[in-house]
Amino acid sequence: MSPIKLTAKASRLAAKGRIWFYGDDLQDNSATHGALLRVRGAAGEDLGLGFFSERSKLALRLCGGSGAGEADLESFLHGRIAASLQRREGMEAEAGALRLVHGDSDGLPGLVVDRYADCLILQITAAALEVHLNLIVSALNAELSPRMILARNDLAVRKLEGLSQQSRLLHGRRCERVEILEDGIRHEIDLFHGHKTGFYLDQRPARALLRRLAKGRRVLDLFSYQGAFSLAVLAGGAQSALAVDQSQDALSRAEEAARRNALSGLQLQQANVFDLLREMRKSESLFDLVVLDPPAFAKNRRQVQGGVRGYRDLNRQAMRLLARDGLLLTCSCSHHVSATMFEDTLRQAARKLPFRMMIRERLSAGVDHPVRLDLPESEYLKVLLLQRVDSP
Ligand code: SAH
Repeated sequence: MSPIKLTAKASRLAAKGRIWFYGDDLQDNSATHGALLRVRGAAGEDLGLGFFSERSKLALRLCGGSGAGEADLESFLHGRIAASLQRREGMEAEAGALRLVHGDSDGLPGLVVDRYADCLILQITAAALEVHLNLIVSALNAELSPRMILARNDLAVRKLEGLSQQSRLLHGRRCERVEILEDGIRHEIDLFHGHKTGFYLDQRPARALLRRLAKGRRVLDLFSYQGAFSLAVLAGGAQSALAVDQSQDALSRAEEAARRNALSGLQLQQANVFDLLREMRKSESLFDLVVLDPPAFAKNRRQVQGGVRGYRDLNRQAMRLLARDGLLLTCSCSHHVSATMFEDTLRQAARKLPFRMMIRERLSAGVDHPVRLDLPESEYLKVLLLQRVDSP
């Protein structure tokens, strides 16, 4: 197949690091849906390979691989998957869970593969990759011989690609739940219905950090989901952990997990966090550690302003609940809110408080969620550990 050529304007963007292009950015749109093609700039320069999709808004996704010629799809996909696995060798200390493929960062646009024990969960958000699902499944089988491969494709973003939103068993026998071990803590994963691909794998470094700092603290775990942070701090010797979520089902799972791990000190409260924070302020409740890990407030560019306001108000309320020397672990997983923007928002939240806030640590997702220096968008999770300081 002949190479696909970008317009002059799009070539300039590609030179600056852009990897996603719309139909208008291409000089011709006649390639086959799902094709992996060599891409050239307007002056004929090589821009590597790219996946073409005629069905999605994003018509072309570049994925590296300079040099001559086209790529055979089967060996390309297998090679990229094998390289992703190799990149993660030694990352897993226990029989647990790991992100094996992290989309563009691993040179596989729109493909995520997570491993939970011996089951693989994948998510596809690029129509061009979906065309080659069988090849992806064979490569994963050849490399890992998993018990099950499940496509958790119940994602709203798939609509933009003209893809259906259904989960589908791709290989093996249906396995509803598995247990994973993280830092010695047993977590049960609901593979078909759990959030994301089943669990917030990306917060592993933050859980490990809090576990080390938790001893003797009274902890408030806001937006707790199934209590992963609460379990980590209790395992680290926290005096108590109050997990708050609006979902009773999530809280019941947190309770069951505490029992399973023989951890005591967990309290549960089903509530809307915004309402609860107002009540807590009135009752002058104080905590030695507050975890604030809300869902993404800005899901697209249009929501950024409102989202930032939400982060600011919520963080201000959370800071007011800190006892002397108290810690706040605050997170944003909104792609469209940059690290700088998030830190500015926290600065505004801390204004007019009767004490100061110090930055103790800056974290992001774990090493299995690699960030490419040339792709700042691949760093979506921002996590800051702040501390209340009363001395001048
Ligand atoms: N901290 C969790 C992940 C949080 S996911 C972990 O590490 O595993 C976001 C959670 O927030 C979901 O469980 C959702 O039910 C809950 N949620 C969303 N909006 C809420 C609100 N306004 N009040 C309380 N919980 C909310």
